[in-house]
Amino acid sequence: MEEKPPQTRLPNKAVVAFGSNMTFTRRVENIEAALKLMKESNLRVTKLSHLYETKPMYHHAQDPFLNGVCEIETELNPVPLLHALQHIENELGRKRTIANGPRTIDLDILLYNDEQISHPRLDVPHKLMLEREFVLRPLNDILPDHVLPRGFAPEIPGRTIREHLNALTHDPSMSSIVMIRPLRHIPLLRSQDPTRRTLIMAIFNATPDSFSGEKAPKETDARMIFGKWFGEGADIIDFGGQSTRPGAELLSAEEELARVLPYITQCRGMNRQDTVVSVDTFYARVARECIEAGADIINDVSGGLLDDEMLPTVAELNKTIVLMHMRGNPKTMTSLTEYPDGVVNGVRRELGERVKAAHKAGIPPWRIILDPGIGFAKTEAQNLELLRSLAELRKPPSDPDEVDLSKYPWLIGPSRKGFIGKITGVEEAKWRQFGTAAAVTACVAGGAEIVRVHDVTQMVEAVRLADGIYRSRDSSFNKPARSKSASPSRA
Ligand code: AMP
Repeated sequence: MEEKPPQTRLPNKAVVAFGSNMTFTRRVENIEAALKLMKESNLRVTKLSHLYETKPMYHHAQDPFLNGVCEIETELNPVPLLHALQHIENELGRKRTIANGPRTIDLDILLYNDEQISHPRLDVPHKLMLEREFVLRPLNDILPDHVLPRGFAPEIPGRTIREHLNALTHDPSMSSIVMIRPLRHIPLLRSQDPTRRTLIMAIFNATPDSFSGEKAPKETDARMIFGKWFGEGADIIDFGGQSTRPGAELLSAEEELARVLPYITQCRGMNRQDTVVSVDTFYARVARECIEAGADIINDVSGGLLDDEMLPTVAELNKTIVLMHMRGNPKTMTSLTEYPDGVVNGVRRELGERVKAAHKAGIPPWRIILDPGIGFAKTEAQNLELLRSLAELRKPPSDPDEVDLSKYPWLIGPSRKGFIGKITGVEEAKWRQFGTAAAVTACVAGGAEIVRVHDVTQMVEAVRLADGIYRSRDSSFNKPARSKSASPSRA
């Protein structure tokens, strides 16, 4: 008789919602710690939503929450799964006080296979999920077409999660939740919020040969420069030791570290908690050592392609990464400008692959910012096309196998680049501010969340004005970039 192969039981699929509002500056940390403990308990995360900040519901006198959801695979039955999640809540110091009150971490089971469970300790699908935008919105990120079990909400059978969400938020301007990206504990980037400010990333070149015509200042002068930039309105400083101008010779990780680390230490030494430090590097080793010295963001021009260890390193250290689109390396990129179905489609698809790789390495969606890579493997015409097509880049793909980039925030860095020099006729990079201001305005108009610039004083002014035109209609929003008057009694 023929022997039957052993029956392998398919794992169960469950969806777990997570939320934290305590303490305010540790909310992201709590959520990432909970996900780590889930993985260690063999609850295998297969899908992760974006992360949203939510005003508290039910009990209003408490800090806003961060919320998201994940799909997991597990061998556990529903009640043991609840126990495993409660064990994690306890391990992270959750204390039960008032119902719906503040919490370090809350883990709820939303769905378990397609089952409907009514048990003294467990109701699945979660009873209140359809009235909670902070559940439906992230759930819509990962399972928009999912239909709840028939017996749940029988008065509205067959509705998908997307339809439930739309039914709840018919007026999106009334939505109480906003997608965020942690830059540091605070501030958070309020991605795609129509009333947000565009953030300014100031470029600090620790290179003697920057294309933009700058030389690294003496370390002792650096704090004065950082203080000035933050005073003027910079949100992030991006430290770079490697010149990535076309044709540049590559520096080793050791040489790069020797250039940037002293400045990062100076900046962190200023003890400003809200100061965001970014490092422009494609080396995992540089990323690790700079993060250990206090850096918050890794800005990788290769999107993790030039060093296999980059994405796993950023995942392990729980930091935010900017994935920039480039082809080849700075020595080869100028000849790699063929985009058979257009530069916008090419950049979208190739960046989508980098996002997939980042997820695979364990970087959650809320830790990813995208950059189309103006000036990297692009012709002059392609740079201009990208600047006018940000909305196009953000369109959800028609091909379901392509990653949906529509919810990711964008950083754009046109500052002083060669195409601006060619069009304006300004040969020396450091005199390209007017052309840069026009390009930066296009970035804001297209919806960029962050612009990366050299001339902080001038570009803060340009961005404030562009924000005034393209973002909020609220007049209090347009406060001056900084006081121009020496008088302290300015109204
Ligand atoms: P919470 O304070 O929101 O964590 O509520 C926890 C209580 O809700 C626990 O005592 C659970 O037994 C019960 N409960 C009922 N249904 C669920 C569910 N789907 N997920 C998590 N807890 C649930």
